[in-house]
This record gives sequence, C-alpha cells and structure tokens, in this order.
Amino acid sequence: MINILDFNLEELKNWMKENGESVFRGKQVFDWIYKGIYNFDDMKNLPISTREKLKSNFYFSIPEMVKEYKSKDGDTYKFLFKYKDGNIIESVVMKYKHGNSICVSTQVGCRMGCKFCASTLGGMVRNLTSGEILGEILAAKGEMGEKISNIVMMGSGEPLDNFENVLKFIEIVNSPNGLNIGQRHITLSTCGVVPKIIELADIDLQITLAISLHAPNDEMRRNIMPVANKYSIEELLKACINYIEKTNRRITFEYALVKGVNDRGEHAEELARLLKGMLCHVNLIPVNEIKENTLKKSSAEDIKKFSNILIRNGIETTIRREMGADIEAACGQLRRSYLEEGK
Ligand code: SAH
Repeated sequence: MINILDFNLEELKNWMKENGESVFRGKQVFDWIYKGIYNFDDMKNLPISTREKLKSNFYFSIPEMVKEYKSKDGDTYKFLFKYKDGNIIESVVMKYKHGNSICVSTQVGCRMGCKFCASTLGGMVRNLTSGEILGEILAAKGEMGEKISNIVMMGSGEPLDNFENVLKFIEIVNSPNGLNIGQRHITLSTCGVVPKIIELADIDLQITLAISLHAPNDEMRRNIMPVANKYSIEELLKACINYIEKTNRRITFEYALVKGVNDRGEHAEELARLLKGMLCHVNLIPVNEIKENTLKKSSAEDIKKFSNILIRNGIETTIRREMGADIEAACGQLRRSYLEEGK
C-alpha cells in the first residue's frame, strides 16, 4: 500500500495516467484530501471503479491520536500520535492571537545527541515521510476543528537529517492546491548541519531558518551539542550569511539559557560580537528542565540581563514565552514519559 499523502499533485496525476484513469482525476483527489476528506468513498465525483482502484492501492498516513493534553490556560495543545507501524510522535499546537501554530516532529527520535534535549535520549528510530509529517497537521486540525496557519519544525528530530522528505513536506503544505500555507509562515529549525544549510540556500525558499546555537564559542557548544564537533561556529555562521545573501531572509538564532553554563554576561557579550551586523534575531529560551539531566534553567533576572546586553549591542532579541510547561510540551518529553509508562 502507498501513502497517498506522500504524493504531490503531479505524482497523483501521473499515477492516474499510468493506471488508465484521466489525468484530471488526480486533481480531484488532491482537492478532496486538502478539503479534509480522507476516505475514498466520500470522493463523490469519482467513478466507483476509480474509488475501488484507489482503495486497493493507497492509504492515508493520518496518525491515530493516543493522547491529548491541554495546558491550563488553554493556549497549548499537545498530541501524542501513533502511526500504523506503532511508532509514537508528538506534535504541539500553540494558539496565538495571529493564528494557530503547529510544532511538528520530523523524525521518530533523533540522533543529534544534544545534552539538554529529551528527543534524542533514545536515539533515532526512523525518518518520517513527507506525508507522515503532513499527517500530523491534518490530524491536529481534525482534533481541534481549527485552522493551522503557521508551521514550525521544532518537534522531535533534525529536519536537515531528513532533507528530501522535509523539502517535499514544505512543497505540499505550501502548494496552493495543498494546505496553501505561505513559506514565510514555515520555520525550519536545525542544530546546524552545515552542508544542508548550503543546499537549502540554493533552493532559495522564503521559509524562516532557525539555528539552534545555544553557545557563543565552540568549546562550550561542543560540550552540549555533538554536532559542534563536526562543524565549527565559524563554518555555521558562514553558511548562515550565505543563506541570508541568497534568500534575503532574516535568520533566527535560538539560545536556550542554562543556569551557570551559557548564561553569563560575558557569554552575551561574546554572542553579540559573533552576530554583529548580521540580518538576524536572537530568541532566548529558558531551558526546559528534563528529569534525565541536571541542567537548570536560568533565573528570570539573568535572562533579562542577557537579553539587555544583546539589545544594547544592537542585536534584536526576544525572550520566548513559556507555553505548555505544565504539560511537558518540550521536545520529546511526552513521548518519553508515554513510552516509559508502557514499560
Ligand atoms: N533538531 C532541530 C529541531 C528540533 S529541536 C534543532 O535542533 O533545531 C527545537 C528547538 O528546541 C531547538 O532549538 C532545540 O535546541 C530546543 N530544545 C531542545 N531541548 C530543549 C530543552 N530541554 N529546553 C529548551 N529548548 C530545547
């Protein structure tokens, strides 16, 4: 069986042609899917014989919801979703004034090994296909009965370690016949896989690139992010500058503040020197504490101080609002506790 959500419009048309159907049937099916119909029997403008053919070849990778959590303030929903093969992933929807934003996972687990992150603790299980990532959005939409207007790839997994599938996912959500979500409403977050950032720049998309920097120098970065052993900050920033030049897009640097590790004033000064003059923005994140390590989040006061130093040095900076902390809405925590409960 083929996952129909892995097909773009062109592929669906080709399939029809190759299977003795009229090409325009491909467009009809595509339209139904993105109208929210995930059942061939309900695609009323198709002949029964076509529906039968589709039924015997395709399935929809809409994951099953195994658990839903809602934060006390009602602004954050977290879903544990299960795919056909039993793998569990998590997606989070955050409700903002400007619309709903979904944080999707791109892999089951992750192999990047960042010290502070729960997603990577069990290693990487497998990549999600483009249709499976899309399935997270379709399932969340269905559960909430609401529109999704922004996508961030900040769930479990490293998007640039699943490059082809992620690109296809972007293509389909962006397509006017698909979910029709503008590229500027899509953010790809990476721990810094330099060669893929260079490739991405050449494709010249208008998505927002977010870089998980988390440290102002290589020594410190290597202590918390193994990927830093492979690529230096200098190489990473060079790739970022190239990305900005090619796409004209402002880059976001994510910096999770960990008490006593990367949160001192001198670190902020060092970071400001690194980023000076770049078309960028720093997003400071109080680290989410997880039980598998002893890293603590910086105090609100230290975060404010850190932020002020950056701003004083001309670096645009925001402090991320903490949402959904009461439902462990941080990167792989929920999947982990669910899997542990089951043991
Ligand atoms: N692999 C990608 C995207 C997934 S992680 C990346 O590294 O960017 C999304 C963001 O959450 C990253 O910036 C990551 O470093 C951060 N993150 C992971 N664990 C965290 C934690 N415990 N507290 C705060 N941020 C965390």
